[in-house]
Amino acid sequence: MPTKTKSRAKGTGVAQTKSQILNPKSSQSPNPKSKIQTPKSTTPKSQILNPKSYSSPERLQKIFAELDALFPKPECALLHENPFQLLVATILSAQCTDERVNKVTPGLFRKFPAPRDYVGLPQAELEHEIHSTGFFRNKAKNIIGAATRIVNEYGGQVPRTMDELLTLPGVARKTANVVLGTAFGIAAGAVVDTHVFRITHRLKLSEGKTPEKVEEHLMRLVPQARWVSFSHQLILFGRKICDARRPLCAECPLATLCDAPDKTI
Ligand code: SF4
Repeated sequence: MPTKTKSRAKGTGVAQTKSQILNPKSSQSPNPKSKIQTPKSTTPKSQILNPKSYSSPERLQKIFAELDALFPKPECALLHENPFQLLVATILSAQCTDERVNKVTPGLFRKFPAPRDYVGLPQAELEHEIHSTGFFRNKAKNIIGAATRIVNEYGGQVPRTMDELLTLPGVARKTANVVLGTAFGIAAGAVVDTHVFRITHRLKLSEGKTPEKVEEHLMRLVPQARWVSFSHQLILFGRKICDARRPLCAECPLATLCDAPDKTI
């Protein structure tokens, strides 16, 4: 698979454009509080929400269309050059911003680029490298454990199935979905991070109490061809517009489709 070098913001590593990454003065600031130019909503203001139709195909199509207009090419924002590096970066992104992870991984991958480089690596040495990403003891232990298993059980290649990925230390469905979707283009599920969880609840697409339940609901509502991009779009939408504490509802193209209790307009 062709590998890419990208960068991303918090949690699951989805996506700014290259120009955003390279140009700190880019007009599409990753700061969710900044003013964002959003395409005009295609949804009539007069639309009345029918609580029974939150999952109607018409409403879903409108949500997809608005997200496509906002984020036509959502991409993974974590720096990586191959599936293994994406796996490591995703493990590091837990409870940490992608910007922080992207400051750590270039040096880390220069020193330790491949799974075999982590086999037998003293944990303290890796802890030192990844210290600033937080939870560094657990992350170091998991990365060494995952790399060792990849070398011993999978011939040094990151496995390409959900079941196999879930056998790696530190890998749950969210990380596995990031790796499968971004590194291999395999839509095995939907990434559910804190943004996806919040927004699916605000848009009443799921009332699931766990990320697993929300993923299950999204996999029923969203066509499989959209699983990877839809999650990425929601993550970007959460970072730039539908912020957890201060959603920019006045600028939100989904506002007429939303009756979240914490909507601000
Ligand atoms: S209207 Fe507000 S709460 Fe609803 S989706 Fe848009 S930003 Fe989020």
